[in-house]
Amino acid sequence: MGMEKEPEYIRLVKETEICKKCKNIVIGRGNLNADIMFVGEAPGRNEDEQGLPFVGAAGKNLDKLLEKVGLTISDVYIANILKCRPPENRNPFPDEIKAHTPWLIEQIKQIKPKIICSLGNYSTKFFLADGNVEDMEKMPGITQIHGKIKEIGFHGLKIKLIPLFHPAAIIYKRELIDLWEKDMEIVKAETMQKTL
Ligand code: URA
Repeated sequence: MGMEKEPEYIRLVKETEICKKCKNIVIGRGNLNADIMFVGEAPGRNEDEQGLPFVGAAGKNLDKLLEKVGLTISDVYIANILKCRPPENRNPFPDEIKAHTPWLIEQIKQIKPKIICSLGNYSTKFFLADGNVEDMEKMPGITQIHGKIKEIGFHGLKIKLIPLFHPAAIIYKRELIDLWEKDMEIVKAETMQKTL
């Protein structure tokens, strides 16, 4: 049997410096047939160790969010903008976002979610900018638009984007908890709609 050629979107990730330094490429977890997808920023230390997204402290908050809205991991799919952990959890660089998001786009095309909950600024701005990394900085921040549903067209799919605070932000900014819980009600109302 001939060797399968590695898809371009995987090659692009592997060529980035952060990929050469990480322990695991963190692809995603959950249900590939899910109607709802959660997209975070990048793997942290625990995620890098285990090769799975949102398994550390931020993951505990995401579990709480899911529980509050009556969902489990088998109802959703969870992925990140970056597939490898940036050193010291620094913010993603634009070139890294450019190299890593073709894989995310592939995942979205496969899963075809009706709803994407973007977690935090990077994920939210990526979708609002329609995947154009250069335009991300012009997009409104999460403090302005959290909990506001926006219908977007993304690679031929009609998606309801629900921007949410990043579950890690809740750990450091306890004052966000009330807002975060209100936003969950919005997620709940959307996921319960029969048209899903
Ligand atoms: N934060 C993220 O954005 N993603 C993870 O997988 C873990 C923490």
